[in-house]
Amino acid sequence: MAVTLSSLDASAGGPLVDIRSVDPTIIVELRYAGRNNLVGYPLYPQGTSALARPEVASGLAAAQAFLRRYQFGLKIWDAYRPVTVQEKLWHASHNSDYVANPEIGVGSLHSWGVAVDATLVDTWNRPVRMPSDFDDFTPAAMWHYAGPHPDIRAHVHLLQVAMRNAGFWGLRTEWWHFTIADWQKYLPNQAARTAQVYGTQWQGKL
Ligand SMILES: [Zn+2]
Repeated sequence: MAVTLSSLDASAGGPLVDIRSVDPTIIVELRYAGRNNLVGYPLYPQGTSALARPEVASGLAAAQAFLRRYQFGLKIWDAYRPVTVQEKLWHASHNSDYVANPEIGVGSLHSWGVAVDATLVDTWNRPVRMPSDFDDFTPAAMWHYAGPHPDIRAHVHLLQVAMRNAGFWGLRTEWWHFTIADWQKYLPNQAARTAQVYGTQWQGKL
C-alpha cells in the first residue's frame, strides 16, 4: 500500500502520514480544527489532516477492517497534536487528570504521533451512541461504561476490541483515547525512560 509522507516533523521524532492516505474510508473530524471543543475556537488551521506515525495509521486500518465486518467504522477526533496546541489546551483546561502538561516529561503522546482519539460511526458514517462526547472530563468518559444502555455498552466494547486487536492500548479515564502498544519505541530513549504519560495500558477488562 502506498503511504504518502505528508510531514516530517522533527518534534514528533519521526515521519508522520495522513491517516486517510493509508485508509481513505476512515472518517476524520478533527475537533480542534473547529469550535466544537473545550476551548471553543479552532486550534488547527483549516484543512489540517489527521497525521500519525505510519505504524499507527496501519493499525487504524486494521481496526477499520475489523469494524466493517460489524457494519461500523472509525471516526478520528484527534491524532498528531503539535506541542504548541497541547500548550493551549493545557492552559485552557488546567486539568492534569485529563490534559498532559506539555512541560512535564514527554508531554502528550499525541505530540509524538503515537496516540489517537477515536469513536465509532455506522455503515453510513453517521455517529452512533457512545458513553459521552469528546473531551467530556466527567465520570461518563470512563473506559468502563457503567450506564444503563446496552447499545452504548456494545458500541464502546466493539471499539475497544477492534483497537486492542489492532495493537492499541486504551485509557481508564477516556474511552476515546488509544495509544499504540509499543509507543516507547517511537520516543528517544531518555524520554521513554522518564516518560510520564497517559494511556499506556489497558486498565480494565474487555
Ligand atoms: Zn487522546
